[in-house]
Amino acid sequence: MKMVLMGLGLIAASLPAAAQAETRQLGTHLHGHGHLDVAAENDALSMELRVAGADIVGFEHLPASAAEQAAIEAALATLSDSSSLFTFPAAAACRQESAEASLVVLSDPAEDEPHGHSHSHAHAEDKVDGGHAEFHSRYLFICDNPAALDRIALSYFEAFTNAQELTVQLVADGASFGHVVTRAAPVLDLPRRF
Ligand SMILES: [Zn+2]
Repeated sequence: MKMVLMGLGLIAASLPAAAQAETRQLGTHLHGHGHLDVAAENDALSMELRVAGADIVGFEHLPASAAEQAAIEAALATLSDSSSLFTFPAAAACRQESAEASLVVLSDPAEDEPHGHSHSHAHAEDKVDGGHAEFHSRYLFICDNPAALDRIALSYFEAFTNAQELTVQLVADGASFGHVVTRAAPVLDLPRRF
């Protein structure tokens, strides 16, 4: 099932093999609340986004129609175009070096593990929806003037109307900061670095 989904996007084709192993470590996720990891070091800025499929395409089951398959492909394309997700201060002169996006199906315990018949009835209806899936994407930027990189506007919330919040983990110059950025105030302020 994973292979089917990963074959959908051209970008997903370059997915590192490690991503599949990753599915085993994923727990539950909260719809509407994604995660964004940001790491800034010298002129390099790397970002990693993990968001529930519900936030991105409105469903998390295997595509059941051509329209749903097209929605997944469109989402992967949008997630691979950082200009539609993040806006940097012009003075920072940041450019995208690389971007990749993939759809990751979270393992469904009802499907992966044998279980007693006492569980069967409870899971029977859940399986109609096919469990959960997440979109994962990662980006690398080079900023010619990193001192001017004091904020990142998250147009991500405009691109994906179901998304409500991003929990941000920011690592800059060896220090770690936690933020929550909401749809109502979609700007990530960065600490002064110099
Ligand atoms: Zn979900």
